Amino acid sequence: MEEITALAKRRGFIFQSSEIYGGIGGFFDYGPLGSILKRNVKNAWWREIVELRDDVVGFDSSIVMHPNTWVASGHVAAFHDKLVDCRNCKHRFRADHLASLEKCPDCGMTGTLTEPRDFNLMMKTQVGPLEDTASTTYLRPETAQGIFVNFKNIYQSARKRPPFGIAQIGKSFRNEITPGNFTFRVREFEQAELEYFVPDDGNDMACYETWVAARKKWYSDYGVRADRLRFYELKPEERPHYARAGTDVEYLFPWGWGELESIAHRGTYDLDAHMKLSGKDLTYFDEATKSKYTPILIESSAGMDRTTLTVLIDAYDSETIVDDAGKESKRTVLRFHPKIAPVQVGIFPLARNKAELVERARALELELRPHFRTTYDEGNVGQLYRRQDEIGTPFCIMVDYDSFDDHKVTVRDRDSMRQERVAFDALAGYLRERL
Ligand code: ATP
Repeated sequence: MEEITALAKRRGFIFQSSEIYGGIGGFFDYGPLGSILKRNVKNAWWREIVELRDDVVGFDSSIVMHPNTWVASGHVAAFHDKLVDCRNCKHRFRADHLASLEKCPDCGMTGTLTEPRDFNLMMKTQVGPLEDTASTTYLRPETAQGIFVNFKNIYQSARKRPPFGIAQIGKSFRNEITPGNFTFRVREFEQAELEYFVPDDGNDMACYETWVAARKKWYSDYGVRADRLRFYELKPEERPHYARAGTDVEYLFPWGWGELESIAHRGTYDLDAHMKLSGKDLTYFDEATKSKYTPILIESSAGMDRTTLTVLIDAYDSETIVDDAGKESKRTVLRFHPKIAPVQVGIFPLARNKAELVERARALELELRPHFRTTYDEGNVGQLYRRQDEIGTPFCIMVDYDSFDDHKVTVRDRDSMRQERVAFDALAGYLRERL
């Protein structure tokens, strides 16, 4: 994990937020490569869930909502973790993360931990110029509630009838007691949530199973290693009382299994709760049968920061390679899936001080840029390859003197390190097929 966090900083994937002021716990910034990586992960989700389906529509709701939203959802009353303080070192812990309440794990003193008490994880904020309780609301701790309160607006305007889904990707905020494990547990993060509404016609469990299978396929399509991924089916006592089924998608991180996504059959709980408090009708009126019903909800809620961290960790590889002269060296490589890799093709001249090579390589990069995520670089050949391996670029192209005679370039494959001569006019097709 230390090697990965160092690489993430060195190459511009992830930085600590406000680092020059000493940082702020639980917040991170995505650098030039990290922001592309995260965007690619989100696009891969959006493409699969929204664009490639005709039964899911997209949505984008505000982060700050009417405070009653969080009363109805149960977050005001129950979105708590149990908090424990150490009276000696003043450190705070989540009670369920402590092995015992006898001894402080940080300072080692016994008998200094307080009794666990409720700590609400929602971040409060004031809206408008008056700082009174009436103006207090919260930064949303999940994106889903924006979908529920808009259910009627959406199905009427999009002319959808259940079964259909509403998807949203957006920021959520939780005042986690103990943020940590890099970007795994943070206080500001992005969620990708799908709320799929189905009629109560006996097919709801089958629909839930179909979504679990679809999500399994998505992770596998993007190359997440099968032996580090598991779909854990929640036991009845591990689910909320209203949920009829639940599956946690978990990845084997360097510190153990951690949740990436939760998939749940939530019954009619969420729409019922908002109808009750708002007094507004959020049932679905079926024109065909002239009947009203509250649809059942199947939810998939995935963390985009955790998924981005997962693809980074999953891609990380360090190996010893031996060159033609028998010399050993270490190679760090990020084996990103080509659709997710921030840079797909690196293009270099064999020598940076030969104008004709530089010109040809730059022209080639410009030509390929509209079709792939490309970068131009120059310098020592070994270092160029090492840098691209470290940021996970699947292909590198070298323009050399022979290129002017045979109209070919050398293409190097990141994973096998094999090199191949490919003609200029065949390059785009060659790359498209492999990327
Ligand atoms: P945990 O048990 O890890 O606190 P949770 O069960 O509270 O998570 P959910 O409320 O089910 O999480 O949220 C859905 C998804 O949102 C999670 O699977 C995770 O990917 C993401 N997520 C939740 N909390 C955080 C966080 N503090 N930092 C980053 N991602 C988070």
